[in-house]
Amino acid sequence: MQTKAADQKGQAVHKRVEDVLLYINGKFVDAENRITFENINPFTNQVNNLVAEGRRDDMDKAVAAANKAFKQGPWGTMKVAQRMKYINRIADLIDEEVEEIAILESLDTGLPISQTRNMVARAAENFRFYAKMVEIKLHGESYPVDGEFINYTLYKPLGVVGLITPWNAPFMLETWKVAPALATGNTVILKPGELSPLTANKLAEIIDKAGLPNGVFNVVHGLGETAGARLVEHPDVRAISFTGETTTGSTIIKNSADSLKKTSMELGGKSPLIVFDDADLHRALDAAIWGIFSFNGERCTSNARVFVHKNIKDQFVSALKERVANIKIGDPMDTSTELGPLIGKEHFDKVKGYIELAKEEGCEVVQGVVPEEVKAGNFVPPTLLLNARNDMKVCQEEIFGPVMAVIEFETEDEVIAAANDVKYGLAGFVWTNDMKRGHRVAHAVEAGMLWINAQNVRDLRIPFGGTKASGIGREGGHYAIFEFYTEPKVIHVAIGEHHIPQFGKVNK
Ligand code: NAD
Repeated sequence: MQTKAADQKGQAVHKRVEDVLLYINGKFVDAENRITFENINPFTNQVNNLVAEGRRDDMDKAVAAANKAFKQGPWGTMKVAQRMKYINRIADLIDEEVEEIAILESLDTGLPISQTRNMVARAAENFRFYAKMVEIKLHGESYPVDGEFINYTLYKPLGVVGLITPWNAPFMLETWKVAPALATGNTVILKPGELSPLTANKLAEIIDKAGLPNGVFNVVHGLGETAGARLVEHPDVRAISFTGETTTGSTIIKNSADSLKKTSMELGGKSPLIVFDDADLHRALDAAIWGIFSFNGERCTSNARVFVHKNIKDQFVSALKERVANIKIGDPMDTSTELGPLIGKEHFDKVKGYIELAKEEGCEVVQGVVPEEVKAGNFVPPTLLLNARNDMKVCQEEIFGPVMAVIEFETEDEVIAAANDVKYGLAGFVWTNDMKRGHRVAHAVEAGMLWINAQNVRDLRIPFGGTKASGIGREGGHYAIFEFYTEPKVIHVAIGEHHIPQFGKVNK
């Protein structure tokens, strides 16, 4: 796929790109019924390309190919070092095409190119990391039993796994799943978010070029209710790893029950960032701003609720206002842009609706200004909801845009109670120079991931995921390969003459 999205000065520009097909059994193919849907560029609101819309038949073909590839091998049974050569080759090929992939990602999502470049580079590391992890760490245990047995475990791939991903940060989120799934020997069907399908096909091109056997990796585009739903119910799919909205996760769990699938759920969030009055305010400010306005605010771990101690609130809020007024809003292809357009009109309307609701609920709304020349895009300026209360709807529901609610607090107990008074539990951030308090608060906040005096820095070895309505299970190093993409199998070996009951024997 060529974007041809660079002008003569090498500046990336917005152009229509090639249509996107399905990738099934090592071939790029049209959907069975040849139906397509339009993929819209969030900056221009023009059509980027058409996308083959896979439905039930296409999903069935992909699952059959993946099942055959798993059962007939050699993917799951080849020597580990050989399989990891393929995985490392994928990483090298991503590295060779970082710029091309970043351009596609920005065209598709509206994310600023300065941010998509970093994400793509990290995606290559996802493959390298899991190649190392599987080669070194994926071994079983042995259990010698009283000189009579040696029992040992193997960690076996599951078979065909379905990976269902959202439209935000697609390439990075897809590779978080694809890399461990393939490295552990499974075969894969990826069902990307329908609003950002481009880089999934770039990944398919790369995997094709890396020479993986046919059927090991497949991409089926389509809608959630059709393509996604078929993947979830298909009897030959062993597991579904899902990232997306909490309500969709719940539907998927229900729909996967009849075929008894293993599921992993990475869902929504409404994460708190707590600033105490002894914190390093400059760093806390940088982190609070980056945490909600990077990735256009379309980020599951964003600090959508910022709790600021009463003693420093005025100072902190006035610094926030100044920074928000200066955030550079513009063309995602411009390397100086800090905030781009939201993914689509529907989402844009949803986020705007929440800003109107915030006014009705009594917040003071302070926003940056969208430049006149980019008005065609789905731009919501960086927005502060001041004088917010945690019980407001805008503090309870996931807005998933560049909107930060600022809530004042006075005591540690009060802020912990408020931080936890929400259905979500994905991430949390604590800013204080009192380390005892930092740990205390981090222990008490109900979330899967807490950062003390730090922004959302991810190390691939740590467990990634949330509690409460933010998820079930964890992704990341050890957790992905042992707890999700493989299952233990035990082999019992008798090494002595253990007792065997002698039923039916006349002279016992
Ligand atoms: P979504 O739930 O609407 O869609 C996600 C994926 O599920 C898409 O591919 C969609 O086609 C598919 N889908 C929809 N209905 C389905 C069904 N019935 N059966 C099978 N598949 C179905 O989410 P979205 O709007 O694309 O993404 C935004 C959401 O994702 C936000 O809530 C965000 O917080 C969450 N998210 C969570 C994490 C995390 O790690 N916890 C990371 C990124 C995004």
